[in-house]
Amino acid sequence: MRRFALVLFVSFLVPLISGAQKPDRPKLVIGIVVDQMRWDYLYRYADRYGKDGFNRMVKQGYSCENTFIPYTPTYTAAGHTSVYTGSVPAINGIIGNSWYRRDLKRGWYCTEDTSVTTVGSTSTAGKMSPRNMWTSTITDELRLATNFESKTIGIALKDRGAILPAGHAANAAYWFDNASGGWITSTYYMKELPEWVRKLNDQKLPDQYLSKNWNTLYPISTYKQSTEDVKDYEASILGEDNSFPHNTATLTTNKYEAFRQTPGGNTYTFDMARATIDAEKMGQRGATDFLTVSFSSTDYVGHAFGPNSIEAEDTYLRFDRELGEFFKYLDTKIGAGQYLVFLTADHGVAHVPGFLEEHNMPGGTADDAVIQKWINTSAQKKYGIAKAIETVGNYQLYLNYAALDSAKIPVADFKLWALGELKSHPAIMSAYDLTSLAAATVNAKIRERITNGFNYKLSGDIQFIFMPGFFDGSNKGTTHGTWNPYDAHIPLVWYGWKIKPGKTNRETYMTDIAATVAALLRIQMPNGCVGNVIEEITR
Ligand SMILES: [Zn+2]
Repeated sequence: MRRFALVLFVSFLVPLISGAQKPDRPKLVIGIVVDQMRWDYLYRYADRYGKDGFNRMVKQGYSCENTFIPYTPTYTAAGHTSVYTGSVPAINGIIGNSWYRRDLKRGWYCTEDTSVTTVGSTSTAGKMSPRNMWTSTITDELRLATNFESKTIGIALKDRGAILPAGHAANAAYWFDNASGGWITSTYYMKELPEWVRKLNDQKLPDQYLSKNWNTLYPISTYKQSTEDVKDYEASILGEDNSFPHNTATLTTNKYEAFRQTPGGNTYTFDMARATIDAEKMGQRGATDFLTVSFSSTDYVGHAFGPNSIEAEDTYLRFDRELGEFFKYLDTKIGAGQYLVFLTADHGVAHVPGFLEEHNMPGGTADDAVIQKWINTSAQKKYGIAKAIETVGNYQLYLNYAALDSAKIPVADFKLWALGELKSHPAIMSAYDLTSLAAATVNAKIRERITNGFNYKLSGDIQFIFMPGFFDGSNKGTTHGTWNPYDAHIPLVWYGWKIKPGKTNRETYMTDIAATVAALLRIQMPNGCVGNVIEEITR
């Protein structure tokens, strides 16, 4: 009896002493990735942005102005994975958008999964899952921390932009299907689309957006921060010329693929984000939910037209407006100060080489496939073997060990020779044996980024680094993937729940995002996390 009384007394007292209660958390966390957004876009168009979008975030939120991607190659799948795992390709297994599988002797897509099928369309675009990702995500950790009471859902036109951020234990991920023009998912998550997704798909909003054509938001003469409209070095939207107005209404073949390359793709992503919050009651259930949204159209537009194009400027002006509307929606739906947002990017982008050339700036392209052919031809002459290189991908050479072995060529000798060859190429700045990088004479930052990108099981044998301004590609449009600041310097702005206004120019990293969210929510960090908490945010 006395024991019972003591237990009763203690159990009554403990909550009083410790003030025990559930940790204070926001109702909803929203992770926004703007695909291909360079940090400088926060300021480049700031005078043309409204007060409710980017400017609201930067003025009322906290900006980590010098956030870098701590690995190379800087591609979409690796970027989304790093943001949400707080980890790097060496550890999380997502070393690019795709990579060579020596065991299968073919390329392998980052979210490829032949064990699942499409839900919501007859296409094969849904044969995807997060299974190739080795580590947990911050979204997984929130699910674990709340015994799966929290919902996490990922949205993006790109499958990889939706699937990888949402994590393994996600409630759902939805991406865009070129065949049907609607949102789909895979049997990894569910057997059939929820009623509310089917209803949204039935509205055929992409057709409505395409039918309006893409003209500039403001008179075209006001786009003074961009090159004139039509340039030879621009690519075009499928089946369309590259001048304003872009006549998207008349597109017939592959019109939904073209749709991705218009600002309407971002509009449709915002539509889906609102529909998800409404239907799934995210942030309105007494648990902390996590919505990950990635805006892919900024990347498609950037690839085709480049960062100095009217198309890029117009896409960001429109995005800024829609971001402002989204915040107003969240203020009403969830409540101002009740939701936490971070906005970042998966990578930046290089200028179009043709544009650089116009202004006497260095830059250019070199084709991976041509480099492979050249090394193989030289190896044939030197060693008398065919196909000494199995493939070149993500700026790495994959050696053909079987061919070297049967010709009795020591791997170390061949590597030395190949390094010498690579260094003679005008587009290549340097090249390194990936297994002895520690012994190489190389700038410390480049060494760290290569090391973080090198995965012992999946990567190639030799890494080459291009000259600044150069990339693997053709002379139309542009891309990203290198260690250089234009590809690796990304925005990181925090806004909302418990975020005080401010900024830091201290160097922070993409991998710090998940660690910081974990600290804010008081949950475990992802299981491959190597980032640090950004203490300025948590103070
Ligand atoms: Zn891209």
